[in-house]
Amino acid sequence: MTELYTNLSAIQADIQQGKTSVVKLVEAYLQQIDQHRHLNAFLEVFDQEALSRASEIDSKLKNGKAGKLAGMVLAIKDNICYKGHKLSASSKILEGFTSIYSSTIIERLLAEDVIVIGRTNCDEFAMGGSNETSHYGPVKNYLDTTKVPGGSSGGAAVAVQAGMCHAAIGTDTGGSVRQPSAFCGSIGLRPTYGRISRHGIIAYASSFDQVGPMAKSVEDVALLLEVMAGADEYDATVAQAPVPEYSKDLSFSGKKRIAYISEALDSPGVDPEIKKLLLDNIEQLKRDGHTVEPVSFKYMDYVVPTYYILTMAEASSNLARYDGVHYGYRSPNATDLESTYKKSRSEGFGKEVKRRIMLGTFVLSSGYYDAYYAKAQKIRRMIRDKTVEILHNYDFILSPTTPTPAFNIGENMKDPIVMYLEDIFTVQAALAGIPAISLPLGNNAAGLPLALQLSAQTFNETELLKFSKYFLERSNN
Ligand code: GLN
Repeated sequence: MTELYTNLSAIQADIQQGKTSVVKLVEAYLQQIDQHRHLNAFLEVFDQEALSRASEIDSKLKNGKAGKLAGMVLAIKDNICYKGHKLSASSKILEGFTSIYSSTIIERLLAEDVIVIGRTNCDEFAMGGSNETSHYGPVKNYLDTTKVPGGSSGGAAVAVQAGMCHAAIGTDTGGSVRQPSAFCGSIGLRPTYGRISRHGIIAYASSFDQVGPMAKSVEDVALLLEVMAGADEYDATVAQAPVPEYSKDLSFSGKKRIAYISEALDSPGVDPEIKKLLLDNIEQLKRDGHTVEPVSFKYMDYVVPTYYILTMAEASSNLARYDGVHYGYRSPNATDLESTYKKSRSEGFGKEVKRRIMLGTFVLSSGYYDAYYAKAQKIRRMIRDKTVEILHNYDFILSPTTPTPAFNIGENMKDPIVMYLEDIFTVQAALAGIPAISLPLGNNAAGLPLALQLSAQTFNETELLKFSKYFLERSNN
């Protein structure tokens, strides 16, 4: 089975007419998961629990008492706390750890009758762009198993791609929802910073981390956003702004002003087919009467270094809590307290995570703080201000989501800089705190998905989603 449904309303209509049931859907997804174990998308499948919740939800539906996500089967990235369930962030250091509470988003999703079918593989502590830093091995792209699925939410993207669930929840610090969605052909949204609570989400870089939905239709992305978003007394960084009913009316009309960044188009690292996709869409949007203009963004060369200096600094602090005493793995070779810390951390963290903790500690150290961390903070502000200025004159910024399509497993692991440069188009929104969405727009000659990204002003998800739906429908006709 490849997933027949692209949106939840079609599922709910078929359940209503007796053509399917939540139990049947869960059984079909479980079968699909079973047949694709080699993709390594799931770290754990909650099969029995999903089946028993499915029959409860079937009865709720019969009694007309079901929540708005009834019939939706969801996979969650393994950095989202779900009470009573294991949680590892794909790291050895959290081996054997079980969540003692649920994240706010899980509570909100369950309250609307979602079914969580399992937790998905990801880069260790969400640090990576290919799902190759996971302690549990790489995830493979369903369309070509020699290719990466992207990362860090790679398992989540493949679970949606291969019809092992209906939709998934990932996290996006610098692109981890959008880039794997682009590599796997689904839609991925990074909402405005502060739109969704992060209570119960394992922290990587707290001034960047966001939760985001991954699905096959804009309707479902909108629906998941509306259920998860909004104020939360457990997370002081969440915006108090009221949550619109994003999914209620996604119709679009009118003409928009769209900017594309000339430096992005001219960059030599952009794959020719992706460049052509962008140029073709620019032309088509113009033909449809929208204003599409190039703008200069002279900070393009600085976005990746700024992002990595700041996220590594924040990561070094956030990951200090994994000490072999409080959580998960404790080295059996330790002899005293200090060696417990040293050995547990050395043995428990993988190579990439250790690289980031060490570099993050370095940029925060007193002798180098001003030269790296403080400077990067200033540049972040300049990047943000310029981005906001562009979005003052234009409704959206259009760019590729990624410079290349899915690359070979192993290809970029030799050189971290090459891997980091894959994030060139996704980190701008993360640095600026604005919402951005990746939209799948067909495949390249080799059959791999291609995608473009749209970003908008903070808290303008409503317009972003409406325009995305129109954009996808327009391109598919
Ligand atoms: N690839 C980026 C990084 O490694 C983004 C990761 C993410 O968004 N979690 O930091």
